[in-house]
Amino acid sequence: MSLLVVGSVAFDAIETPHGKVDRTLGGAASYFALAASHFTPVRVVAIVGEDFTDEHRAVFHGRKIDLDGLEHAPGKTFFWAGRYSQNMNERTTLATELNVFADFKPTLPDSYLNSSTIFLGNIDPTLQRSVLKQIDRKPKVVGLDTMNYWIERTPAELRETLKHTQILMINDDETRQLTGEHNLLRAAKHVFKMGPRTLVIKRGEHGALMVHNNFLFSVPAFPLEEVHDPTGAGDSFAGGFMGYLASAGAVNEQTLRRAMVYGSVMGSFTVERFGVERLAKVKRAEIHARARRFLKLTTFKL
Ligand code: AMP
Repeated sequence: MSLLVVGSVAFDAIETPHGKVDRTLGGAASYFALAASHFTPVRVVAIVGEDFTDEHRAVFHGRKIDLDGLEHAPGKTFFWAGRYSQNMNERTTLATELNVFADFKPTLPDSYLNSSTIFLGNIDPTLQRSVLKQIDRKPKVVGLDTMNYWIERTPAELRETLKHTQILMINDDETRQLTGEHNLLRAAKHVFKMGPRTLVIKRGEHGALMVHNNFLFSVPAFPLEEVHDPTGAGDSFAGGFMGYLASAGAVNEQTLRRAMVYGSVMGSFTVERFGVERLAKVKRAEIHARARRFLKLTTFKL
């Protein structure tokens, strides 16, 4: 099935206790596409500036990543800078320069209009909806990510977009903020009234929890000795999750459970190195080997 993602393609400056990079390829759509392309072809809708060269595009080449929807505009590419605390549980945003992203009006190439699985990355909910409106037929699955900025500033627009969303993928703070409910299971009931049938709560080093009308499922974060840079873990999780789901061709309890594992697998590769370095090199065999290790990690007899 065809998977479309809309979101940021960026240059990031990142500082963690393990080092520092000044200007590396980042952005939610970049992480998402690199992770998802291991499972299914991905169509990218995003915008970059004149400083985004063929060398940067090359990271996406040789993979099942379609860049026809990557708009090049006059000006500079979105730039984000962040610094992590010593234990890497907290992140301070040092700079957000929207640049060409500020005037982004996503326009889908004709070849994208039949996309059946859609991931609306963390951008203005009105723009997220404008992407959905351009799709020819009702998509089979729509996943959505958002953040406190949109929950606070554009609540009505976000509610409207959520009506057209089946899977909401956010972190625990965002879940509480969106619903006004501290308990995550009760919060999920509020989310179900807004439209989505499935809530995936990303919990960083604590893994992820999926709450569905009929079942609950939890995956740990893969235990790693070396975590160098958590940036993009959530977007890589979303890429693995949606990519697997699109390749499976059906959304049911079994495919949703496996999607959680592949999401966690892809997130675990991303954090091993800075930026997209590890994600861009990971091999299919490594992905499946790590998924099998998840099975061992979580299986027990009663
Ligand atoms: P995550 O670690 O999953 O929060 O994602 C980090 C990525 O999100 C970085 O590569 C940034 O370039 C990108 N990013 C940061 N702030 C924003 C924003 N306001 N809108 C879109 N993308 C962003």
